[in-house]
Amino acid sequence: MFGEIITIGNELLSGRTLDINAWYAAGRLTASGLKVQKITTVGDDMEKAKVALKEAIRKSEFVIITGGLGSTEDDITNEIVAEVLNRPLRLNEEMFSRIKRFVDRRGIKMSPSMEKMAWMPEGSKLLDPKGIACGFSMEIDHTILFFLPGVPDQMRYLMDKVVIPMLIERYQTLPVVRQRIIKVFGISEPQIADRLKGLTKSKSHISFGFYPQFPENHITITMRGKDEAEILRQIDKVEQEIREILGYYVFGVGNESMEAVVGRLLKEKELSLSTAESCTGGLLGNMITDVPGSSRYFKGGIVAYSNDAKHKLLDVSTRTLREYGAVSEQTVKEMASGVRELFGSDIAVAISGIAGPEGGSSEKPVGTVFICLASDGLIDARRYRFWGTREQIKRQSAMMALDFIRRYINGYPILPGI
Ligand code: AMP
Ligand code: MG
Repeated sequence: MFGEIITIGNELLSGRTLDINAWYAAGRLTASGLKVQKITTVGDDMEKAKVALKEAIRKSEFVIITGGLGSTEDDITNEIVAEVLNRPLRLNEEMFSRIKRFVDRRGIKMSPSMEKMAWMPEGSKLLDPKGIACGFSMEIDHTILFFLPGVPDQMRYLMDKVVIPMLIERYQTLPVVRQRIIKVFGISEPQIADRLKGLTKSKSHISFGFYPQFPENHITITMRGKDEAEILRQIDKVEQEIREILGYYVFGVGNESMEAVVGRLLKEKELSLSTAESCTGGLLGNMITDVPGSSRYFKGGIVAYSNDAKHKLLDVSTRTLREYGAVSEQTVKEMASGVRELFGSDIAVAISGIAGPEGGSSEKPVGTVFICLASDGLIDARRYRFWGTREQIKRQSAMMALDFIRRYINGYPILPGI
């Protein structure tokens, strides 16, 4: 079950577009127990693509090819297939009527370039005959080829909905593979590796992966076997062991984001939240409201960027701002109590910091960020020092504020500042 991936497009070679299709396909194939032995990228170049395709058919059992299926002149994948594989282009009726329906619905005329998409190599099977994405499969000399669109969303859709299930079905001898992602925040990758060294060594039948997903770190636990229930039982056990070792740093598993975890906690405890943001400019509010149903607990937020706004909207005293500055423990405390009062929320968080690249001083260098949580009878502010670009500092700040809430509600120690 060795396969390969070929991505086609000049923009991939010039560095204008990052090849995320190869990355995505490789990840999905590997997680499904299929082995990717090669990834090739070629430009929109007939000769180079031919060579890549011929070699792939010789050496691999399955090949995923993305790009070049569109309607423009440079989309030549179909022509390549026709020539290399000796499969002349024929008008695919199914595809043609789909395109026809598409243009009819929009009241536009069928153009030659649109019709071009329906001229497909003989023997190609549409991957998603009812759907919207074009893409086809074809079998040559026992190698199955999947031609997918370059548009990442469409490519992923077909990969997940059609290609992976087809491959799993085809190679039934596949062992069961299950993977779990453990999400961690506030501890560095080397520290995680250090702490888990003993565990990873003792479990040779399980493969561990460590992936920084800024500003989080993800740990994957992957196991193969014959019996799904047994694999899941073992994965559960390893997850438990990781949780014991890393403790409060683990904030979630699988698809759950930090903001979703915080939302769930707020809902469970029936607590409402408001935010006061300075250097994050609304990023925290944006993250919170990315979670469906956040209106149940999020009352609102104020982006108070200037001193004037901090004073007028959040009632931060002009004296505090003058004496301690906008980036200070005193200011962030007043911001948190001000916004809590304004919205009448149970919990409020406030962020004020220096995102850079300018504006730092020796006393408060770039990356200095104060975060405060206010709730009934509590006002807890911490000073943090983050590193990175302006955007990274903003993201770390918003994430730390969410983690602050998560830890507060769970009764865990808040991540120490400096
Ligand atoms: P194409 O199917 O080659 O016409 O590509 C359609 C769109 O998808 C273009 O905007 C490409 O830049 C983009 N695209 C194609 N291949 C990839 C890839 N491997 N990774 C990311 N984007 C891609
Ligand atoms: Mg292209």
